[in-house]
Amino acid sequence: MNVTAGIDIGGTETKIGIVTREGEILAFTSIPTNAENGHSAFLKKLQAEITELLRSFSGLSLVGIGIAAPTGSYHNGTIENASNLGWPRNLPICDLIGGYFDVPAVISNDANAAAVGEMLYGAAQGVDNFICITLGTGLGSGIVADGKLLLGVDGHAGELGHFIAVPDGRPCACGRNGCLETYASATGIVKTYLQLTGKNLPQIPSENNGRLTAKKITKAALAGDEIALKAFELTGEILGKKLADAVSVLNPEMIVLNGGLSRAGGLILIPTKKHLEQNLLNIYNGTVEVKISEISSKKSAVLGAAAFMWIKLDEVSEEATKQHH
Ligand SMILES: [Zn+2]
Repeated sequence: MNVTAGIDIGGTETKIGIVTREGEILAFTSIPTNAENGHSAFLKKLQAEITELLRSFSGLSLVGIGIAAPTGSYHNGTIENASNLGWPRNLPICDLIGGYFDVPAVISNDANAAAVGEMLYGAAQGVDNFICITLGTGLGSGIVADGKLLLGVDGHAGELGHFIAVPDGRPCACGRNGCLETYASATGIVKTYLQLTGKNLPQIPSENNGRLTAKKITKAALAGDEIALKAFELTGEILGKKLADAVSVLNPEMIVLNGGLSRAGGLILIPTKKHLEQNLLNIYNGTVEVKISEISSKKSAVLGAAAFMWIKLDEVSEEATKQHH
């Protein structure tokens, strides 16, 4: 059976899955990203793990590799600015890993990969215009417009996380202030909650060494904690308003929310929908569906990266069929 490998390279952990054309993850594992001996040790480990995963089933034939990484460049097939991992500035990972297995490889950033995963296997199957929002540590977004992943001239299209949501607001890692992801993300809601409580933190179920997390705020909100509920309301308000602006640019029929914070379900979905609808230009009212992804947040980039490779392979075989006729 033909399979692709999906690889999700994160700052600390790299996840690897072997994926069928139907989107089933046959085998899955993870390795630390920051191999101490630099990129060659990491690549060796990656190759060994993929080989091992392929061996765990008989009759698998690897036909391509999809990679997702925060600074993955689709056009160059590289991971850009990976120096924080102790790697070369632009690591030609597609050539290196694809070359090793003698199969084509494709890379995109993780948010774009998640969008492709939703398009092929998730909530957006058959939807030609949608936005996929990943609410994790930051806010990632991937845009599918007229049936195609929107890439832009450098492959950087779709950075909704850095829309200025609050002028002169919270400092962002990008060096500017008030970016959407400093509010609408797992870390953003923690900041909002702390802001609302001042110093008098109410009793929150203690785990994770007492550190406040989005998960704890979700638990508290489900238990009826007023401040936690307010934090979700404010997060949904800021997100909904900015998504309303995005709708004016893209006219999507669907917005899919995934990532850790989306697991809060209605707590985040309801205020987001409400404020989106209230702030839409009237011609768009009632035209945009907002859904929570059903793909596991942990595996969405792996599945998406593999899906991206499957789409590329489909394009190649369509092209070959055309030339044959
Ligand atoms: Zn920013």
